[in-house]
Amino acid sequence: MSEKIESQASCDDAIEPHLLPVAQARSRLLAALEPIADTQVIGLRDALGRVLATDVMSSIDVPSQANSAMDGYAINSSSVPASGIVQLELKGTAWAGQPFEGDVQHGQAVRIFTGGIMPAGSDTVVIQEHVIANDSHVSIDSEVVAGKNVRQAGEDVQQGQLVLSAGKRLEAADIGVIASLGIAQVSVCRKLKVAFFTTGDELVALDEHVPVQSLEPGKLFDSNRYTLASLLQEMGVDAIDLGIVGDNENETRKALQQAASIADVVVSSGGVSAGDADFVTRVFHELGNVHFWKLAMRPGRPLAFGKVGDAAFFGLPGNPVAVMVTFLEFVKPALRRLSGMRDLDTLTLSAVCQSKLRKSLGRVEYQRGIMRVDNTGSLLVESTGKQGAGRLSSMSQANCLIVIDASVSEVNPGDTVGVQPFRGLLGG
Ligand code: AMP
Ligand code: MG
Repeated sequence: MSEKIESQASCDDAIEPHLLPVAQARSRLLAALEPIADTQVIGLRDALGRVLATDVMSSIDVPSQANSAMDGYAINSSSVPASGIVQLELKGTAWAGQPFEGDVQHGQAVRIFTGGIMPAGSDTVVIQEHVIANDSHVSIDSEVVAGKNVRQAGEDVQQGQLVLSAGKRLEAADIGVIASLGIAQVSVCRKLKVAFFTTGDELVALDEHVPVQSLEPGKLFDSNRYTLASLLQEMGVDAIDLGIVGDNENETRKALQQAASIADVVVSSGGVSAGDADFVTRVFHELGNVHFWKLAMRPGRPLAFGKVGDAAFFGLPGNPVAVMVTFLEFVKPALRRLSGMRDLDTLTLSAVCQSKLRKSLGRVEYQRGIMRVDNTGSLLVESTGKQGAGRLSSMSQANCLIVIDASVSEVNPGDTVGVQPFRGLLGG
């Protein structure tokens, strides 16, 4: 017998050269995923948060004709005197939606209101505060600036212009812009179906209605399913909750098969670390092409990724913080890609750290941070405190992840760090 215990890789090892860097894992999984091809045409009112399947081009100029940006008088700029005051003949009125049919020649003016079409021959609007007017004439002076207070045809959007590209997730402003083009329906990518389950004999579901005081030793309430359901809801996918799966081969096989048959993506939590009963590994391998990665990150070192049938599969770790971090770093960009989005990048900002942070070398750490803006407008971040992967409340206090590079072992107050916001500065 050997004199020495063969030690396996563990979460506490300082430097493990065989750990897969986060960026490499992310690019491998993104390369393995193709956006879903199905599209549907929906009304614009239902399109918020959906991903455009085709480019949106404009068939019109917006605005369609030059019009007034102010209430005032439309004139031809040749009427502006070189000095002094000049009197112009008042010919009529142009209302918004009710154009003045005649034209405006040198020496003439038309009363015009905001949005009124510029009459033929006019190129300038003199605001009403800058004229002296009676029923038949207006007087203007040499201060009038030629071309002012006119919204030119097509100055917002030009006919034939590409306005929004396929792959854009539609936000409120996009919906408004599309409406301004007279387009009432858009072609969008089908919503992703994501089935998810949690694993663990120790888990108790809230809907079992176990009184809090009667929770048996070693048991705990399944929080991951609630976190996952909420993260998926935030992403606008159709989420299918498959419940808790016990730590046994049959249940795991059944859950994974069912999930893969009804969904585009399957997400599970727990059961992927080296110490777990190896039935999980066996079932995953048996049913699909699944890789188990040991990632150079903390929390969230173990991650299973692959294909089960046509479905993409993510086996996240069980620790509640690790679930969130691996979701944000891997599942979120993957879902964005699968749902047809072009922009997959996670926003990383620079912030001045106000806490002393320590970590081990060799792995990227995602520590929970609270960022805020100081009275000079600089972004500051402080740690939420102790960083155990089971402390889910730290995620609830935090509004960002502080990303500390693998090569860094400590951060001192005043150092600049990268932060990834996962909700607004003001919380809520
Ligand atoms: P595992 O990755 O399955 O070894 O799980 C690691 C730890 O995460 C477990 O010991 C639990 O404390 C915790 N955990 C696993 N699944 C859940 C869950 N669904 N909800 C809350 N905590 C969990
Ligand atoms: Mg487990």
